[in-house]
Amino acid sequence: MRIRSAEIIAVGSEMLTPHRTDTNSLFLAGRLNELGIELSAKAVVGDDQRLLTTLLRQSLERVDLVIITGGLGPTEDDVTREAVSDALGRPMSEDADVLASLEKRFADRGYVMPANNRKQAQVPRGAVVIANPNGSAPGLWLEEGSQAIVVLPGPPRELQPMFDYSVSPRLVATTAGTRWRRRVIKITGRAESQVDEVARDIYLALMKAPTPIQTTILATPGQIELHLAAVSADVAAVDAALADAVGRLATALAPFVFSVDGRNLEEVVGDLLRERGLRIAAAESCTAGLLLGRLTEVPGSSGWVVGGIVAYDDAVKIEQLGVPPGLLEAHGAVSEPVAVAMAEGVRSRLSADIGIGVTGIAGPDGGTETKPVGMVVIAMAGVSPSVRTLKFPGDRRMVRQFSTAAALDMVRRALVTP
Ligand code: ATP
Repeated sequence: MRIRSAEIIAVGSEMLTPHRTDTNSLFLAGRLNELGIELSAKAVVGDDQRLLTTLLRQSLERVDLVIITGGLGPTEDDVTREAVSDALGRPMSEDADVLASLEKRFADRGYVMPANNRKQAQVPRGAVVIANPNGSAPGLWLEEGSQAIVVLPGPPRELQPMFDYSVSPRLVATTAGTRWRRRVIKITGRAESQVDEVARDIYLALMKAPTPIQTTILATPGQIELHLAAVSADVAAVDAALADAVGRLATALAPFVFSVDGRNLEEVVGDLLRERGLRIAAAESCTAGLLLGRLTEVPGSSGWVVGGIVAYDDAVKIEQLGVPPGLLEAHGAVSEPVAVAMAEGVRSRLSADIGIGVTGIAGPDGGTETKPVGMVVIAMAGVSPSVRTLKFPGDRRMVRQFSTAAALDMVRRALVTP
C-alpha cells in the first residue's frame, strides 16, 4: 500500500450550525502534510447515514485514504459505524475485546454500562480497532485493496493522541519514509509586496534546486511570514537545504527578519531585555495596553516588564506621565514631542530602564489633512532614545496591531547586536 492522497469527512450536525467549527481537519491537515500525504478535499456532513455512505463511496473513487471523524457515540444519531459498514459492504459484529474494555471503563468509575453503549462495540468486518485511552468510542482502521479508511472519534482530545500513537505509524509505513520539513522566517516593518520583491528571485531559484523548496508568504498586520517546505526521505539533506535557504533569505531581508527559530516578536524582545538585564515600561495611548499585553504573553515577563500607563485622555498624559500641557497645545497629542515626553515620563515615573510612548490616530474618525487616520508616533527613551512617525493602512484594529508590532520592533532593533 502506498498512500499519497487523502480526504477528510467530519461528521456532526452541530458543525453545520454557526456554533461549532470542524477543527479536527485542521489538526489532521497538518499531520498529513508532515507525512507528505496530499489532502485534496474535506467535507462536513450532518448525522445522516445515507449521505455519509454516499460521500465515503465517492471519496474512495478519488483518494488513497479517507479519514472520518465523529459520530461514534452511543446514541441514535451517531451513524458513522453503520455508514462505513454500508459503504464498504462489510457487515458488523460485536467485538468481544471492545465490549470488555467498554464495560471495564464504566466499572472503573463505579457504573454499570448503559445498554446503548453496547453499540460502540460493533465493528465492521476486517477492521482493526484503535484504542481510545481518553474516551469510550474506539477508532477503526480498515483496508480496502490499496486504500485505507480511518475512523476516529470527534472530541479533539480523544482524536489527536489516537492519530499520533496509532494511525500515524501505520501511515508512515505506507509513505516510503518521505517527510515534509518546514522552516518559518518572520519579518516585520515591511509590506508583503516589499518582501516579495526582495525574495522572489531567491525562491524561484529554491524551487528549481536539487531539493526543491516551496515558499509561501503569509501576511498579518505587522508581520510577514515566509514558510519554507521541502519533502524528502533524506531528512538530513532536506534540513540542510532548508537551513541554507533560510540563511539566504534572512540575509537578503535583514534587518527586518526578527526570527528564524519559531519565536514571535514579543519573545525575541523579551529575550533581548532579559539578556541585557533591562526593564521596560510603556505609556500607551492608541494601543491602550496592547503593547504590554503582548510583552506579558511571554512566560517570565515579570522579569523585564515593569508596567505601564494607558494614557488615553490628555489629562492622564499630563497628570500621570508629566507631559507638559504646553507641548500638547503646541504640537497636539499625536506628535513626536508628546510621544517622547510620554516615553520619558513613564520611564522615570515607573523607574524602568526603557520607556515606550505610543500615540496615534486609529480611526475611523479623528483624522485631519496633516494628521491622517493611521498616523502613529512611537518613541523610546532611556536606552537608544528615538522617535518615529509612521503611517499604517487599514481599519482601527489593524492600525492598533501595526502600532504594537512597530513598537516592539523599535525595541528589538535598538537592542539587537548588529
Ligand atoms: P463521543 O462518543 O465521545 O461522543 P463521537 O465520535 O460520537 O465521540 P461526536 O459526538 O461526533 O463524537 O462529537 C463529540 C464532540 O466532539 C462534539 O460536540 C464536538 O465538541 C467535538 N467534535 C466533533 N467533531 C469535531 C470536529 N470535526 N472538530 C472539532 N471538534 C469536534
